[in-house]
Amino acid sequence: MGKVTGFLEFDRQEQKYQLAGDRVRHFREFTLPVDNGDLRKQAARCMDCGIPFCHGPTGCPVHNQIPDWNELVWQDDWEEAARNLHSTNNFPEFTGRICPAPCEEACTLNLENQPVTIKNIEQAIADKAWEMGWTRPEPAKTRTGKTVAVIGSGPAGLAAGQQLARVGHEVHVFEREPKLGGLLRYGIPDFKMEKHHIDRRIRQMEAEGVVFHCGVNVGVTKSFASLHNEFDAVLFAGGAEDPRDPKLPGQNLAGVHFAMPYLTQSNRRIGSEPIVEEPILAERKHVVVIGGGDTASDCIGTAFRQGALSVTQLDIRPRPPEREDKLAFWPYWPTKLRTSSSQAEGAEREFQAATLGIEGRRGRCIGIRCIRVDERRQPLAGEEFVLPADLVFIAIGFAGPVREGLLEESGVICDRRGNVIANENDYRTSADKVFAAGDMRRGQSLVVWAIREGRQAARSIDEYLMGSSILPR
Ligand SMILES: Cc1cc2nc3c(=O)[nH]c(=O)nc-3n(C[C@H](O)[C@H](O)[C@H](O)COP(=O)(O)OP(=O)(O)OC[C@H]3O[C@@H](n4cnc5c(N)ncnc54)[C@H](O)[C@@H]3O)c2cc1C
Ligand code: SF4
Repeated sequence: MGKVTGFLEFDRQEQKYQLAGDRVRHFREFTLPVDNGDLRKQAARCMDCGIPFCHGPTGCPVHNQIPDWNELVWQDDWEEAARNLHSTNNFPEFTGRICPAPCEEACTLNLENQPVTIKNIEQAIADKAWEMGWTRPEPAKTRTGKTVAVIGSGPAGLAAGQQLARVGHEVHVFEREPKLGGLLRYGIPDFKMEKHHIDRRIRQMEAEGVVFHCGVNVGVTKSFASLHNEFDAVLFAGGAEDPRDPKLPGQNLAGVHFAMPYLTQSNRRIGSEPIVEEPILAERKHVVVIGGGDTASDCIGTAFRQGALSVTQLDIRPRPPEREDKLAFWPYWPTKLRTSSSQAEGAEREFQAATLGIEGRRGRCIGIRCIRVDERRQPLAGEEFVLPADLVFIAIGFAGPVREGLLEESGVICDRRGNVIANENDYRTSADKVFAAGDMRRGQSLVVWAIREGRQAARSIDEYLMGSSILPR
């Protein structure tokens, strides 16, 4: 464990940010560095519980061995902490930055609202491992002669590709976009995670033998049948990109966009990629974001950085309580009022607000018509209101994977929601030698779940190819 009396001696120290007024002037990460000594004290707060819920089924999806590396950090053995952390998580510098940290909700100290700052410690270990040169390519000592095609380079495809290359398979990753990383690259903005973290991992994977093919849309510009013939196994890791469509009256007015085209364009602009479409910019605009999740928050933060005059967020759900009833929820993820760093930059939040339609003049959106709803989302008579809006972003989630192209051509069986059917034991789809992982299998989820699925699918593919596997699940 950490220090026996650590949790009594040291208070939880939250991650500190640049002030909102400063951070909205740029797109870079804005967390302030934490001193090593302070981090060690935070790690010392870990109680090494008999049943560490933080890495059990209700906590970390990749089962990071959190109490073990807290102890190692407290002992100042960062190199061993990094080795331990990488044994369960291929990309801890990603999750250390953008994971919502279900582990902290499950921490026993959260019963007192003072969980160990697990996510910050994870990020610090991963960053130090890069800084010190401990994170290096780990190429396989022997090659198996087997080939695997991975379709999609999001966290699921990357984690699977890395695991498979490390046990000696020849891995080829096919990506539709010009750059690699999936939603890490084109969805999540730089202010949450700068893209050089992805580039560095790609270089590591290339040194481990992974071959990347960008600009290849399997099922469109390259047939699935040709891949299926060429490779011994194929992994579908194409994400769940089909946006949920509210089909609002006025949705086709200029100035109304789904969130992803906006975020992708902004990420391309920051990444110095050419923008061929009409620019979507929030400068000097009143912006309304429909939706209450991560994607909505990323639209808010991006709009503020582009100079929006105001940003209002519409959430159909009731305002959650400030604090949950611990005994009813712990160690599970509770519904409670959470304020993202982007919301804290000055967004107005409207709860129990349903959108009735977009109002326009001369083909452009000028406002959004809403109605207050009750807790069962039923409209309240006489409670209509209109908000001025020059730009509206629809961020109400994703319906599932895109059907056209890969899924249509391959004919793999999907469930009612359009997700590829494959179980969590072997990740095999209905098609011979075809596996599926990440959002394409489980529906829109989290980076840490994509990493877990990529790792587990890699083990299953290895077993399929070799009869057994030394890869962890
Ligand atoms: C805006 C936004 C913000 C988010 N923020 C967070 C966050 O802060 N924390 C968090 O944990 N999660 C977050 N998420 C969720 C998280 O990003 C996803 O759950 C995760 O990226 C899924 O990983 P994946 O590898 O399954 O798919 P993706 O990341 O979607 O990657 C799929 C890749 O496959 C490629 N592809 C698809 N079809 C083909 C094809 N036919 N041929 C070739 N390539 C193809 C796509 O171009 C894409 O690059 C966010 C999601 C969004 C949309
Ligand atoms: S990956 Fe997420 S859940 Fe797991 S230890 Fe890191 S922050 Fe916690």
